[in-house]
Amino acid sequence: MPLPMNKNQNIETIAVKSADYSLTDTRPVSPPLYLSTTYHRSEDGSYTNDFVYTRSGNPNRELLEKSLAELEKGTVAFAFASGMAAISALFQSLEPGDHVILPDDVYFNVRTLCTEVFERWGLAFTWVDMTDLSKIEEALRPETALIWAESPSNPQLKITDIAAVARLAKERKCLLAVDNTWPSPVLQQPLDLGADIVMHSTTKYFGGHSDVLGGCIVLKEEGPLSKRMSHVQTLSGAVPSPFDCWLIGRGIQTLPLRVKAQSKNAAALAHYLEEHPAIMKVNYPGLRSHPQYSVALAQMKEGFGAMLSVLVKGNAEKAITVANALRLFTTATSLGGVESLVEHRRSVEGDKSTTPANLLRISVGLEHIDDMIADWDQALAKK
Ligand SMILES: *Cc1c(COP(=O)(O)O)cnc(C)c1O
Repeated sequence: MPLPMNKNQNIETIAVKSADYSLTDTRPVSPPLYLSTTYHRSEDGSYTNDFVYTRSGNPNRELLEKSLAELEKGTVAFAFASGMAAISALFQSLEPGDHVILPDDVYFNVRTLCTEVFERWGLAFTWVDMTDLSKIEEALRPETALIWAESPSNPQLKITDIAAVARLAKERKCLLAVDNTWPSPVLQQPLDLGADIVMHSTTKYFGGHSDVLGGCIVLKEEGPLSKRMSHVQTLSGAVPSPFDCWLIGRGIQTLPLRVKAQSKNAAALAHYLEEHPAIMKVNYPGLRSHPQYSVALAQMKEGFGAMLSVLVKGNAEKAITVANALRLFTTATSLGGVESLVEHRRSVEGDKSTTPANLLRISVGLEHIDDMIADWDQALAKK
């Protein structure tokens, strides 16, 4: 039904074509929404276009998955009802006894998912500082099946050298998966850098408007893993609704434009904040002061993302006062929408958090940069 893949096109073109349903019988320019959960069975037992029941397949999901695979230059993609559902499905596709290496500052809920759920189901996990390749090497075991990376990381914006980790993974015959939520495929393409698997919380930049939850896994190649993923997706059933798929597809059409503009705003804000006397430190991979600036420069393109974090001079209370004094930046969790958000991560992550108490995480949106800077200026001036 959807147009065949074209990996030679530029990402802006692929993004706009994400909603191309022109090959269906009514030939619409904008994609229709297929709400039907079930499809007609012919007398000979066959189904037109193989759609039987929406948990196993739906035209809106098929279109979204094709677009996700193309955007990340993969062969096959699986869409889920959230980023966490996508990660769970990947872990469920591993074997009991398998070992997984993750960054010590991995997205907080992933760590909890590992310790609270998957450890009990027979997976083993080791947490390492992924900015140091030798730490990953030391953690590798014969039963290591997967290395999980996240770059830039949440919320400290650490950078992992994806190509170097990919070489190590290949040598030791395990898979490399990259959570590419923060940079999006517009700024970073892990499969090109040698990774085998890309994961996204499509809730963030793909959706782009803070109004739909979703996730995906994109695989470089089809094979035993894609077969297992497909089974888990259909049988566990954490699939996105047709309307969720439609909304994420709508978001994707403007993804390259939004990400590049938001990233440009973030770089300008990072430079401004780095000079401000009330700020102790800015974590942003586009700053020369970032310890892995050269790695970021080599593996990211067209910008360093629209996420940054700052350490406010003073304690947690001072950081919270600044966040509450901001007017344009809304105090809320999540990221990747058109609106700028700020969050005191430590109070969200709770007791087990390793995030500095004076850290504020910033998701930079599409407002004018002058207005953003004016907002931080007045907030940081407050005692
Ligand atoms: C939000 C997020 C997730 C989880 O995705 P959900 O859609 O909230 O389930 C995973 N990784 C990163 C980096 C995220 O920002």
